[in-house]
Amino acid sequence: MMNYGLTEDQLTIVRLAAEIAEKKIKPVRAEYDEKEEFPWPVIEDIRKADLFGVYLPEKFGGFGGGNFELVLVTEALSRACAGIALAVAASGLCAIPILLFGNPEQRQKFLPELASGKKLGAFTITEPEAGSDATSTRATARLDGDHYVVNGVKNFCSSGKAADLYVLFASTNPSKGPRGISAFVVEKGTPGFSFGKKETKMGIRASWTYELVFNNCRVPKENLIYKEGHGLRVAQGTFDYSRPGVAAQALGLAQGALDESMAYIRVRKQFGKPISSFQAIQHMAADCATQIEAGRALLYSVARAMDAASKPAVDEAIKMGLPVYDVLEKLSGGKRWTKESAMVKLFCSDMAMKVTTDCVQMCGGIGYMRDFPVEKYMRDAKITQIYEGTNQIQRNEIAAMMIKEAASSERREAVNA
Ligand SMILES: Cc1cc2nc3c(=O)[nH]c(=O)nc-3n(C[C@H](O)[C@H](O)[C@H](O)COP(=O)(O)OP(=O)(O)OC[C@H]3O[C@@H](n4cnc5c(N)ncnc54)[C@H](O)[C@@H]3O)c2cc1C
Repeated sequence: MMNYGLTEDQLTIVRLAAEIAEKKIKPVRAEYDEKEEFPWPVIEDIRKADLFGVYLPEKFGGFGGGNFELVLVTEALSRACAGIALAVAASGLCAIPILLFGNPEQRQKFLPELASGKKLGAFTITEPEAGSDATSTRATARLDGDHYVVNGVKNFCSSGKAADLYVLFASTNPSKGPRGISAFVVEKGTPGFSFGKKETKMGIRASWTYELVFNNCRVPKENLIYKEGHGLRVAQGTFDYSRPGVAAQALGLAQGALDESMAYIRVRKQFGKPISSFQAIQHMAADCATQIEAGRALLYSVARAMDAASKPAVDEAIKMGLPVYDVLEKLSGGKRWTKESAMVKLFCSDMAMKVTTDCVQMCGGIGYMRDFPVEKYMRDAKITQIYEGTNQIQRNEIAAMMIKEAASSERREAVNA
């Protein structure tokens, strides 16, 4: 790995996460994968190391870092097991919309417990009929006095049932279509909120994926995030900040697969020589390492650029008692990170699928076996191309932003001519 000039604090975070990955996750990852159980003891280790809130402001009990710190932790944990690492990322998916769009009371109420890991978080937008197309959301939230009454079914929720806090999307005004969707925080245990089917999966099997059922669930009015009808803006703003986390998961697991493969190819002998002496194997390893480093360089530079732009807005918003998103829009002149975060998620997840497939190939038959760790990395890699928007959707979003940018630069040129 190149020297990326990490600060002492960042190196400490990486060391802590790497130690948990090595000592606490590697010995148990195959068992959690096999049994599809939630890794509570490891969650406790991550909590004790104070790694849940590395990206959250100190005011809310976090470490005061940003997106880059979340990326570093996710990468280091995913190097051992991307399924276990997902508990941290899923909590981030709950904290990020509260941090970016929440009001001061919501920030103060919910963020400290997510920062300490005392409570786990989750994010639930997907429905059986609303996957890539979130505008088809059918869940409803009808205002009734001091509460919203939520009805509907959400599915494929990561950390479902394990999490205590859920950022939920439901329509407060179905007649307005996409502009009627709103975001809420819902606490586990709220009457009318229950858990349905638990999914069985190809990979990331240490992560629970649940269906959530809302049946006349009364959510306090003050749990509405931002404004009624702005749910899709909350979702997109969250994805802009969370997709580098998926990229970090992909990067970490690709590196983990290559580490295991490098150890194996140096000891495995065929034709009287280590298989690492065959040029075909060497070239595959070289391509994997090059792709991984390209992904890391892109991811780190995007996360750092996002932090440089967003941290002053976070500080200012906390001082002024405003939603971060509003301050961010003002300070950045409306600059969004949709294109860059989609690019980094797309690149790293496609890279991870290719690298892990090649790692299985380099290891031969043993690479395909359950009692050798490499096949799990390949199964885990696949989800990074699917969730938080499939890679087809990432390409759509990148192209849409490119077309918009090209049109506005033509307009600018016409004005200047
Ligand atoms: C393990 C797992 C965990 C998940 N965790 C969460 C979670 O925590 N919270 C949450 O809300 N959701 C979660 N999801 C849902 C996930 O984000 C969706 O599965 C994903 O966005 C795709 O939606 P879909 O499955 O309905 O696929 P579909 O939307 O039905 O897509 C099927 C295929 O059609 C393609 N497609 C669809 N529309 C277009 C288009 N316009 N252009 C080109 N191609 C298109 C897709 O790329 C895909 O290849 C999770 C999913 C899984 C599998």
